[in-house]
Amino acid sequence: MSSTENVTAAGAERQTHGFQAEVRELLKLMIHSLYSHREIFLRELISNASDANDRLRFAAIGEPALLAEDPELEIRIEADPAAGTLSITDNGIGMTREDAVANLGTIARSGTAEFFRSLSGDQQKDSQLIGQFGVGFYSAFIVADRVEVLSRKAGLPAQSGVRWESSADGEFAVETVTRPQRGTTVTLHLKPDAKEFADPFRLRALIRRYSDHIAFPVRMRKEGEASLEYEAVNQAKALWTRPRTEITDEEYREFYQHLAHDFTDPLAWSHNRVEGKREYTSLLYIPGRAPFDLWQRDAAHGLKLYVRRVFIMDDADQFLPLYLRFIRGVVDSSDLPLNVSRELLQQEPEVEAIRSGLAKRVLDMLTKLAKDEPEKYAAFWKEFGSVLKEGVGQDAANRPALLQLLRFASTHEAGNEPAVSLAQYVERMKPGQDRIYYVIAESAAAARASPSIERLTRSGLEVLLLSERIDEWLMGQIVGEVEGFPGKRFKDAARGDLELGTLESEADRKRHEEELKESKSLLKRVKDAVGDRVLEVRVSTRLTDSPACLVLGEHDLGAGMRRILAAAGQSVPESKPVLELNVGHPLVKHLDALADTGRFKELSLILYDQAQLAEGGQLGNAAEFVQRLNRLLVELAAPQPAP
Ligand code: ADP
Ligand code: MG
Repeated sequence: MSSTENVTAAGAERQTHGFQAEVRELLKLMIHSLYSHREIFLRELISNASDANDRLRFAAIGEPALLAEDPELEIRIEADPAAGTLSITDNGIGMTREDAVANLGTIARSGTAEFFRSLSGDQQKDSQLIGQFGVGFYSAFIVADRVEVLSRKAGLPAQSGVRWESSADGEFAVETVTRPQRGTTVTLHLKPDAKEFADPFRLRALIRRYSDHIAFPVRMRKEGEASLEYEAVNQAKALWTRPRTEITDEEYREFYQHLAHDFTDPLAWSHNRVEGKREYTSLLYIPGRAPFDLWQRDAAHGLKLYVRRVFIMDDADQFLPLYLRFIRGVVDSSDLPLNVSRELLQQEPEVEAIRSGLAKRVLDMLTKLAKDEPEKYAAFWKEFGSVLKEGVGQDAANRPALLQLLRFASTHEAGNEPAVSLAQYVERMKPGQDRIYYVIAESAAAARASPSIERLTRSGLEVLLLSERIDEWLMGQIVGEVEGFPGKRFKDAARGDLELGTLESEADRKRHEEELKESKSLLKRVKDAVGDRVLEVRVSTRLTDSPACLVLGEHDLGAGMRRILAAAGQSVPESKPVLELNVGHPLVKHLDALADTGRFKELSLILYDQAQLAEGGQLGNAAEFVQRLNRLLVELAAPQPAP
């Protein structure tokens, strides 16, 4: 007995710890960048209190005694305007001394380094990023110069309480204390310019505004002199359990901000109750902005899962397909067991059914947004379009809806913004056209300038301009007839034959045949000159202005895919392009007239190198190209002999 006491006494002393470097950095940033959103600290702290209560209720499923001593879960807010203090108390799960050191001294989430790298130094932008990152507990220091936390873990005796304290000066102190009640109290000693947050009137307004939907009562002392009675300030009813007709847009928005720790508005939401064979309620939001970790493999995503109103877990990612990982929201099932774990979720047929229901809901919501609020949809596409594209390959069942949701930059639009849908493209196709032409390059502007599409644009045919990393993969997923567009297929303007079909006039066809006949020897001579660099030299049907271009085989890997593979350290299969010549071009005509001298070879190689450059490619040996070009330029620039 006494030895235990000794151990306790030894471990109980006050200790000072340094904050993790990232926390110090975050504190500094937050205090300066979030100045215009100071009140979010309250939302964060109430949200932590609510999480703590949720977690205790969850733990009590297996161990009811944890809840027994004090069964009604609640949150209390206490303000002292005279002292300039504010405290938030929950009777939830609580923290041990070790918990406090770990949770309130470090940032435990993945992607922290990424986050710091993405900061720009621009306060406006950074404040949004910091908001997205989820400022959490540390936001207390936006308004407080000293913060004190008293806590006791549920199930542990009173002597195992902890007192944590910091003035955000790089350090915090912890000591073991006696705390009669379970749960946590966070006390803020407000900065001189933040005393407004100790005003009960202001606090009530903030709580109603930001925490109305918190499922636990948030109580404050009744108004009037030194009242000892508490009353609930919020509705204390989980938002999604209320009927849709009774919820205002404002309430939906605020609930989103609470869920997503985002202080901007969502673009859209969808709230539904499914009844019958299986029962669940979902509330799904489309955020206005992509999180900084959207492309990080291990980034947390998914919905908040409840079973019959009991919080089960955050980031339940089994309820939506990966390509909808940007969706935030809640799913509350009446059928899943309360003790469901992540592993179990993976095997539940129930979950599979909910997932396909929710995916459909999201796509319906997006379809509606695209139709009714095209500007908002454009904003959505800008942030999340390339994630949605993943769905075309991943989700065969919803592919028709996904195809309708795609947006592209196009030669028929002035700007390079992705604004054109497939429906629009098909709508303005020429009579007899059955190919949806596209070209892929480094940027929409480069795609627009690609020699491969000269002939198409000259004939007034629309070409979609693709330039995202995922695009080559995406187009590889859509082979054959495009679902929802009978008889239409995609055609890469930079590969194989243009497949113009009946769009090619009789005159064009004749001319092409002529050219073929007349150019036989030229093609052979150029092939000899460029040698193994190309598979073949052909007469082009796709050029009008440029002398030459390079064309890939239908199934060859494109430049983008090659770069991705190479960057991933994978071997890139060898494939050679075809060199196409515009035999009507003066340069090619002059070339044809040259005898097979060194000059012929040099010009042929320059055409080949130029064709690579025009596609945005890189020259294997740029120095050689420059030397060749310079030799020509020297001749050109030399003083002409007097006649
Ligand atoms: P997050 O809530 O996103 O995890 P926070 O910065 O808000 O991040 O909180 C950090 C951690 O501190 C929480 O995950 C939790 O473990 C702990 N914590 C904060 N507040 C409380 C509280 N009132 N009760 C119990 N634990 C808490
Ligand atoms: Mg939090």
